[in-house]
Amino acid sequence: MRLAPVSAMNYRHAYHAGNFADVLKHAVLALVIEHMKRKEAPFRVIDTHAGAGRYALASPEASKTGEWLGGIGRLLGPDARPLAAPVATHLQPFLDAVRAENAGRALRAYPGSPLIALRLMREQDVLIANELHPEDAASLRRAVGRDRRAKVLELDAWTAVKAVLPPKERRGVILIDPPFEDARELEQLARGLADGLERFATGVFLAWYPIKDPERLSPLFAAVARLGCPKLLRVELLIQPADDAGRLNGCGLLVANPPYTLEGALAALLPELARRLAAGARGGQHRLDWIGAAAASADKAASTTKRRVRMRPKSAPRGARVGR
Ligand code: SAM
Repeated sequence: MRLAPVSAMNYRHAYHAGNFADVLKHAVLALVIEHMKRKEAPFRVIDTHAGAGRYALASPEASKTGEWLGGIGRLLGPDARPLAAPVATHLQPFLDAVRAENAGRALRAYPGSPLIALRLMREQDVLIANELHPEDAASLRRAVGRDRRAKVLELDAWTAVKAVLPPKERRGVILIDPPFEDARELEQLARGLADGLERFATGVFLAWYPIKDPERLSPLFAAVARLGCPKLLRVELLIQPADDAGRLNGCGLLVANPPYTLEGALAALLPELARRLAAGARGGQHRLDWIGAAAASADKAASTTKRRVRMRPKSAPRGARVGR
């Protein structure tokens, strides 16, 4: 595949680090990693678009947008209300990773996905962090330092997906987090997910996408529904109604092969994130559902139940088994 010309790489995550989209993505990543740790066997985290690793929240870039104030600032800033259980429990691994970058003081730094992964991983686990932008890749190398669990690559992400999968541990989490600088990246995301699942069908894939005009996402969902992945969870957070396609109204993650605990944790977490991270008085929204094969079997189960209920003879007592 052709390498993306570096001159076309205008996106810099330093402007956006710690915003609502990072909060959703990193909270989900942390929950997945925590689940992987339930087994002693090592796993590998592969971060295809890793960014710079660590972001100073007082930098000119972060100060220019102030986006982090509407994201991590709402959870750990001085005015943040304490979180109630069970939300506090589900957010703890992610928030502890952010706190660790700030040594208990006020928020000054925000860790990107590779540092959050490293913070949560164990001695036996491995991180492959891939970043194509030369300046961000250099920052990433500095941020990772001499951590022997981490390897930094500077490949085109879509080449990296093919080159590094399957991992030799046969257990892995793959974060695909493109900058979405041009419209073709939605198509590329579906193709990247297909390439990844083809090589590593049991991997936990997290594929991030922006929500501007929700209609524009239909081809992405149709393409991933055709992949035949038996478990594909769609997780979305809108911080404002999606009535202006020129803004980032929300974002989503497609999670292939999610741990069985993830849906329940997110069902508790998403309503609180939608409340806390809402951009205006009209409030936030969320969506959590299955697409593709999992959705089809859920629909089938629901229609079988309906048919069974309809089939119950009037004289049969409630709860009686119906059938032959
Ligand atoms: N995953 C990071 C995090 O959560 O902290 C943020 C990543 S940012 C949204 C996307 C990154 O992808 C940018 O740092 C950008 O330089 C990099 N990038 C853009 N095109 C790429 C490509 N074709 N291959 C690898 N990295 C790329």
